[in-house]
Amino acid sequence: MKITHAYAAQDAASPLAPFDYQPRALRHHDVEIEILYCGVCHSDLHQARNEWKNTLFPVVPGHEIVGRVLAVGDHASKYRVGDLVGVGCMVDSCRTCPSCDEGLEQYCENGFTGTYNGEDRETGAITYGGYATNVVVHEDFVLKVPENLDPAGAAPLLCAGITTYSPLSHWGAGPGKKVGIVGLGGLGHMGVKIAHAMGAEVVLFTTSESKIADGKRLGADQVVISKDAEQMAAQANSFDLIVNTVAAQHDLNPFITLLKREGTLVLVGAPEHDHPSPQVFNLIFKRRAIAGSLIGGIQETQEMLDFCGKHNLVSDIELINMNQINDAYERMLKSDVKYRFVIDIDSLRQEAGA
Ligand SMILES: [Zn+2]
Ligand SMILES: [Zn+2]
Repeated sequence: MKITHAYAAQDAASPLAPFDYQPRALRHHDVEIEILYCGVCHSDLHQARNEWKNTLFPVVPGHEIVGRVLAVGDHASKYRVGDLVGVGCMVDSCRTCPSCDEGLEQYCENGFTGTYNGEDRETGAITYGGYATNVVVHEDFVLKVPENLDPAGAAPLLCAGITTYSPLSHWGAGPGKKVGIVGLGGLGHMGVKIAHAMGAEVVLFTTSESKIADGKRLGADQVVISKDAEQMAAQANSFDLIVNTVAAQHDLNPFITLLKREGTLVLVGAPEHDHPSPQVFNLIFKRRAIAGSLIGGIQETQEMLDFCGKHNLVSDIELINMNQINDAYERMLKSDVKYRFVIDIDSLRQEAGA
């Protein structure tokens, strides 16, 4: 198989730089994908800089992959050469535990294999992600991307999309339900779009006045400035569900107070330091719940892509060339992106002369 051109960080202090590697030979059920676009997730930056202290170097980040099938293994039957496909955060799991049995591979009790910074279950080799010209993945972990979607805008659906779709679906967002989305970033802007498409009444919570117009454009019925106590008080006891995408430590009580009896606050943002413990009375007097949610299973990710295809939903993106990735990381740290960077992988092919 041809060499794969990629961008990798060699250690926590180094910027991402060109890196070539030899991909594995196709196994019976493998699919080789020529990558067209890869979204840039905040996790990529955390891993490249070893901020979670578990990075296996060199690391090739990228788990919002869209591309076309280039070749399939001799027993692979789900995809044909030329199909538009995607790969998200997982490329394998144990396939035998109760969670895997239920199609909840993201909660695999033996740990799923990450698209990058994972270890191949057969060989132990480090998995390399989507900042690359190609990727080889078992067909069971490849998703079909609807052809009507813009493939660049569809890339972030594979992480940001499913991370918000899964809790919205699990907790029943839809007509007659009032749903809050906290934070308007990569996750939050998808949450607003998807909750709106599901038919829920959507309220966006943001700290920034400058996001009011955008929030409404994306599908929010109302935008509430969360540091304005009066605006917050006007929403008390009215939400069925609030999905909190904020990845910085903050007080959860002001949001819990907005839940109806039996409403749920779901955390999907991953802060470096835990939120302070919320008031217990605020929970027990109305049987309110706080929950967490991690990406989504493979079957649910396909359901999300089909839903987005039907509603023509993609992410709002800024397309960059591969060699702009280090600048993009700096801008991401300042939240200077509307709302997701996506790498045009053709720029990497050109740079590598491939
Ligand atoms: Zn991600
Ligand atoms: Zn499992």
